[in-house]
Amino acid sequence: MDRAHEADWATALDVAHAASLDWLEGVADRPIAPANDYRTVLDALMTDLPTGPTDATAVVSGLAAAATDALLAVNSPRFHGWVMGGAMPAGVAAEWMVAAWDQNAGATITSPLAAAIEQVTATWMLELLGLPEGCSVGFVTGGTMANFTCLAAARGAVSRAHGWDVDARGIVGGPAITVVGTQHTHSTVPKVLRLLGIGHDRLVQVAFDDQARIDPAALAQRLARTTGPIIVTTQAGDIHTGGVDRFDAIADVVDEVRSHHPSGGVWLHVDGAVGLWGAASPVLAPQFVGLDRADSWSTDAHKWLSTPYDSGVAIVAHPSNHHRAMAVGADYLLVHEHADRDPMDWTPELSRRARATSLYATLRCLGRSGVVELVERSHRMAGRCARRLAAIEGIEVCNEVNLNQVMVRCWDRQGDAMAHTPAVLAAVQAAGITFPTHGEWDGLPVMRLSFSHWATDVDDVDRTVGAIAQAHHRLRN
Ligand SMILES: *Cc1c(COP(=O)(O)O)cnc(C)c1O
Repeated sequence: MDRAHEADWATALDVAHAASLDWLEGVADRPIAPANDYRTVLDALMTDLPTGPTDATAVVSGLAAAATDALLAVNSPRFHGWVMGGAMPAGVAAEWMVAAWDQNAGATITSPLAAAIEQVTATWMLELLGLPEGCSVGFVTGGTMANFTCLAAARGAVSRAHGWDVDARGIVGGPAITVVGTQHTHSTVPKVLRLLGIGHDRLVQVAFDDQARIDPAALAQRLARTTGPIIVTTQAGDIHTGGVDRFDAIADVVDEVRSHHPSGGVWLHVDGAVGLWGAASPVLAPQFVGLDRADSWSTDAHKWLSTPYDSGVAIVAHPSNHHRAMAVGADYLLVHEHADRDPMDWTPELSRRARATSLYATLRCLGRSGVVELVERSHRMAGRCARRLAAIEGIEVCNEVNLNQVMVRCWDRQGDAMAHTPAVLAAVQAAGITFPTHGEWDGLPVMRLSFSHWATDVDDVDRTVGAIAQAHHRLRN
């Protein structure tokens, strides 16, 4: 191997290309649940550590062969599990090039291309979502790290307002931060509070309505008796209901509280992992009034916008707080003379792939009208699904379909939903045509359907409704 650089790129990439096409072109017609369970897949893969090299093409072929029956068809238009989305062609193809280019997107000097792509994508996103032009933007792995990045900026801002530079001195000895949300604040927020040293017990839960939206009056009451630094965390899209917090009313409450707190001591965050893209739609816009009054916003492009994974975005209205929380500041990585920014100063990671490329490609491909159409189409499809399910005897739709989430409960003839709902769900998943997932609402099980795939159409919705109806009728004794 004295000519190590003479690799056979073409053969290995050809195999990957063919296997990828095979998967993508068949995914809408195959059963959604994987044929093989975890144990079967593990047994197939778990050989002894290879004692020596294997040819790259053979490795890729072997992977492709092992994958086919082991994949959950998340990119089927009838996959409605959790809130995931299925990637669009421009984003997937861009991902391939990201791997081939092998750029380190940490600094402008290590990848002028990646830095420029981030700058363009950030500018487009702020315009599309109607957020203030001066916001800083960090491209992170997903919604969790977007929340982490935003709340790290928040932690610094609210602590400094109380005379404590938490970024320099740490959390110990500083003023205790109160974080206000609800029981439905996404589970990644308490996790982020742990990572930030704030602690998940500092999350105070106030009352909410039947769409899981914060009750602004309850928030006002709670804040009136809170001293010290405050972070309010709201949601654009609850994972169960799709509920969008009333940002205008909440921002009014926050402004009132600010009038008798030290300047900068109260921060308003929006977790928009599920629904932030809805703000681009004129039809959905009334739900987002006041969105631009927050201090930070997080989202996941891999959910509703249908980019590949590793596409979270943290947006902060106060760049100096964002920068202070995330900047690396090593002189050997100094910013390029003509650069606007170094990507690493706005995210937790230093070295990373050029992850914003697939988001750039997806936005470039859709344009404003394409994003609006994508969002409004899934809203319409969710509405159709809910209406058709509600018309079936014994099926109850538990939320108002304001965005893209549908939550249903199935009752048997004895008036039981506790056992019947999970039984219907299991039967539906096993049948393979559609794939909702489970949840709990008001103490009883529900089946959740997220409409976050760009290609879901009327025929898909009707097949999904048919599959649920069939399981419900068969099991309803
Ligand atoms: C999915 C989700 C997250 C976490 O996003 P990841 O990309 O999975 O890290 C955070 N908040 C909400 C509301 C979500 O739906």
